[in-house]
Amino acid sequence: MVLLPKLVFSITVIGWKIQPLNNLIETNMTLLVIGSVAFDTIETPTAKRENILGGSAPFFAYAASFFGAVQMVGVVGDDWSPEYTEMFRKQGVDTSGLEIVPGGKTFRWSGKYRENMNDRDTLDTQLNVLGHFQPKLPDAFRRAQFVFLANGAPSTGLIALDQIQGADLVVADTMNLWINIARNDLDALLKRIDGLVLNDSEAKMLTGELNTITAAKKILNLGPKFAVVKKGEHGAMFISEYETYLVPAFPTEKVVDPTGAGDSFAGGMMGYIASKGNLDNETIKNALVYGTLVASFCVEGFGLDRYKEINRAEIDRRLDQFRKMASF
Ligand code: AMP
Repeated sequence: MVLLPKLVFSITVIGWKIQPLNNLIETNMTLLVIGSVAFDTIETPTAKRENILGGSAPFFAYAASFFGAVQMVGVVGDDWSPEYTEMFRKQGVDTSGLEIVPGGKTFRWSGKYRENMNDRDTLDTQLNVLGHFQPKLPDAFRRAQFVFLANGAPSTGLIALDQIQGADLVVADTMNLWINIARNDLDALLKRIDGLVLNDSEAKMLTGELNTITAAKKILNLGPKFAVVKKGEHGAMFISEYETYLVPAFPTEKVVDPTGAGDSFAGGMMGYIASKGNLDNETIKNALVYGTLVASFCVEGFGLDRYKEINRAEIDRRLDQFRKMASF
């Protein structure tokens, strides 16, 4: 295996502790995601799709796979199809951490978008096998360097973290549901992660603040060294003790289904970071840009559909367009 000198982590940006890691690091850095796998039923003002593959882990994993290999951990029932396993295998997503529960039914979620295509109402949530999910990480996954705890019960994230040794970067997502019903577990989780990615409204809910920047700063007191606040079509904001900046979203006209945009943003962001293997200023900022670009593709089709038509080159072409739009 080819080895490169370990890249030094930035302490100026996010206040990372330089850990006494090995002097050498493998070039194929591992990115692990633990999250929900779902069959979604989605209604928009003009169309409806039933039982399509979704969930925080698939959106994240597919988005990250444009940048390198991904290890995915989740749970499904025996309504899971080998076709999906094959689709992920082709994308370089290792699904050996996907537990298939015999006789079980995969998590189902149903949502309806309003006219503005931003606001949505959850119509139905059936936890099914996700309700008793106790992740068991394959040995090869336990040494992942980059870890993302995608949307799911904070207790699941805690169980997963107990099995992971020496990750260089652990980032989690959360949502209003867990802020409301699992606050103690969420607080425990926040103390064990490096970064938190969440929506604007969730940042405010978590901290009781009305201003996004104040809310994000308060999140830093809860444990994470940085927070990324997603603002939907308005992009994302990065906040650490040392830096605050905004990355606009790529403006796409063709919004078909926004489901999974947040998980895709995180997938693009973490996938890019893992591909670079360092945490310096520039890498993190570029990672947020890649996150918004990948998310902009995600919303152009239902579920994972649009991803099946694109590749890294297409993402980079959009990056060029984005650069022209954003420079002044
Ligand atoms: P996003 O649009 O990025 O918020 O992600 C939507 C995805 O999250 C859908 O594919 C859902 O299946 C999944 N999801 C919805 N509710 C939950 C939940 N409570 N826990 C985990 N995943 C969920």
